[in-house]
Amino acid sequence: MAPIFDSVLGAIGNTPLVALDRLRGGKGDGPRILAKLEFFSPGGSVKDRAALNMLEEAEKSGSLRAGQMVVELTSGNMGIGLAVACAVKGYRFTAVMSEGNSSERWRVMKALGAKVVLVPQASGGVPGKVTGEDLALAERKAGQLVRRYGAYRVDQFKNPANPAAHRASTGEEIWSQTGGRVDCFVAIAGTAGTFVGTAGALKAHNPAVKCFVVEPAGAPILAGRRVTSQKHKLQGTGYALVPEVWDPSLCDGYLTVTDSEAVVTARRLASKEGILSGFSGGANVAACLKLAKRLPKAGTIVTIIPDTGLKYLSTDLFP
Ligand code: PMP
Repeated sequence: MAPIFDSVLGAIGNTPLVALDRLRGGKGDGPRILAKLEFFSPGGSVKDRAALNMLEEAEKSGSLRAGQMVVELTSGNMGIGLAVACAVKGYRFTAVMSEGNSSERWRVMKALGAKVVLVPQASGGVPGKVTGEDLALAERKAGQLVRRYGAYRVDQFKNPANPAAHRASTGEEIWSQTGGRVDCFVAIAGTAGTFVGTAGALKAHNPAVKCFVVEPAGAPILAGRRVTSQKHKLQGTGYALVPEVWDPSLCDGYLTVTDSEAVVTARRLASKEGILSGFSGGANVAACLKLAKRLPKAGTIVTIIPDTGLKYLSTDLFP
């Protein structure tokens, strides 16, 4: 039975791992695909883990003090995670987000007491398709706010407490939930905190675990391939930049997914497995299905459902 937590922060992590046996057409041949459902955390995404850890590490080091404002650049999910943690801990929080991300995200942050600064997309920007250029504009705005208010900048793209959260929790949970029976790990990267931390923990237990990163088909920058289009629907990921926390030594292979593969798979996840995922969860599972064809003898492939389809009802994901 779940315990009584002192606050909702106790409910972050310890998420379920679910076998996608219906999606791959029964238990028959081929690897089993297990999905870690991160929408069970209070902010509804995988980013709650990193948000809480980055704040707690900053408190410990003294770089975040009582009464100080917290500022962060976000595609939405980190901002929601920080809004949850700041509400409980009593910090004022300002999120800076590109207007290209879905409206559910700023609405949720505001509901949780955050101030949200929306930054218009670069010229020619397409709503729902946030590029590295859009991110750079939001980054400039975040820098201005930090200077103006003497705020604490979380800096998820650089902060080592981001991957560390996944190393200590996401990776360890997968290892113990599977009883160490995991052959492959597959995850898409935004900051790459989820991939780097989880892969690091799994490989520390067993260096033979193969870890695959997922990228949008037009922007396979981590694979060292040409970026042909930065515009894709996989919000929160695939910014065509190499994040500072990226560690290629943990990556055994690169997979790409198109928008339509991600969308079709997210719809199948909903209608066949009852799992309401966002675009990036659809991308992760689409990549697992490709990997399963390539490695038919792999026993178990584990992936992440980073957030919920409820955050995309304003988009064309579930018409
Ligand atoms: N999926 C979604 C929906 C996200 O918001 C994010 C983070 N922005 C990710 C995946 C990727 O997570 P990470 O930053 O840990 O790579």
